Amino acid sequence: MLLNLTILPGDGIGPEVTDEAVRVLELVAETFGHQLGLTRKNIGGAALVASKDPLPADTLQACLSSGAVLLGAVGGPAFDEYPRDLRPEAGLLRLRKELGAFANLRPAVCFPALQESSPLRPELAKGTDVLIVRELLGGLYFGEPRSIQGSAGSRVATNTMSYGEAEIERIARMAFELARTRRHKLVSVDKGNVLECSRLWREVVTRVGKNYRDVQLSHMYVDAAAMLLVMRPADFDVLLTENMFGDILSDQAGAVVGSLGLLASASIGGAVGVYEPVHGSAPDIAGKGIANPLGAILSAALLLRYSFRLEREAASIESAVSQVLDAGYRTRDLVTSGQSATSTTQMGEKVRESVKQLAARHEVAS
Ligand code: NAD
Repeated sequence: MLLNLTILPGDGIGPEVTDEAVRVLELVAETFGHQLGLTRKNIGGAALVASKDPLPADTLQACLSSGAVLLGAVGGPAFDEYPRDLRPEAGLLRLRKELGAFANLRPAVCFPALQESSPLRPELAKGTDVLIVRELLGGLYFGEPRSIQGSAGSRVATNTMSYGEAEIERIARMAFELARTRRHKLVSVDKGNVLECSRLWREVVTRVGKNYRDVQLSHMYVDAAAMLLVMRPADFDVLLTENMFGDILSDQAGAVVGSLGLLASASIGGAVGVYEPVHGSAPDIAGKGIANPLGAILSAALLLRYSFRLEREAASIESAVSQVLDAGYRTRDLVTSGQSATSTTQMGEKVRESVKQLAARHEVAS
């Protein structure tokens, strides 16, 4: 298969971790007999510096004509005072919107070797494997009107939460389909006791669920979900929710399973999927060679799974990451006392060695 990818390294640690993910993809393509076509483009702060636009037209065009996009991270202190439309993050939001990526998938898996890294007691974190499905193009983050009006001392700020039935229906369908590929359990999270948007959300999700009788659907208020995510995280399979609740709950689920540096994401549903680690550009550690590349590497696995349906290839990356962690390799964000830290490039190298070993073992076995 020809895998045509646009690579957007972005800012801060983005280029460092993306390089490692691309090297893993190159190895997986070679191992499984695929051809990789890579186009590198600027986004975020790097694009602002080069062309005064956080999402230049040639970057968007390259993304639209590729099979998938792998992104590092955007942002940095140098751009904090820029107007909202000209900040690095505006480029990322526009990209997701232009590509029609309405579903943000964030798996939070507790790797057995990292149970001790969870802020929760190991017996609580153990077995956690939740897929958060977050609506990405609607709700408070995009609703109009939005403004801050009035004079100093008496200003009023307004944001608008609004959801249409079609918007809810398409994300619900995707979540049910994903639940079918997992443990057939779906929790839909809302605030139906207070918000009209949530009442419509619950009604539409229930209606869509009638076509998925094999998936066990339940509804939960967002406050209860936040509590249960730390009390019994392993109970969740697929968690479906709207944009802002999903933003918050997915970071919480991420924290439950250990470091931010481990978390991957997929933004899909439109013409082209965007895959990126959950973390930001981490300016505090950029250029030091200590960033954890596993979130970016695991995002490459999601890219293979969701944009190209290459399940075996995706699973080979995930197994390699698990094996490397089992063997005790840790970047600085994961080390506990007495362990020494592995650099960004060493971690990437270890994952590649493990992909090779797993492929060789599979050849012997088959
Ligand atoms: P951040 O995720 O960049 O960093 C938070 C903390 O986690 C830092 O201490 C950082 O060193 C650490 N960290 C993050 N990724 C790591 C990794 N891979 N390995 C080891 N440690 C890691 O969040 P922040 O500091 O709030 O934001 C920094 C910049 O990134 C800001 O400009 C923000 O707007 C931007 N940001 C971008 C994205 C994105 O591109 N999707 C997401 C979040 C934040």
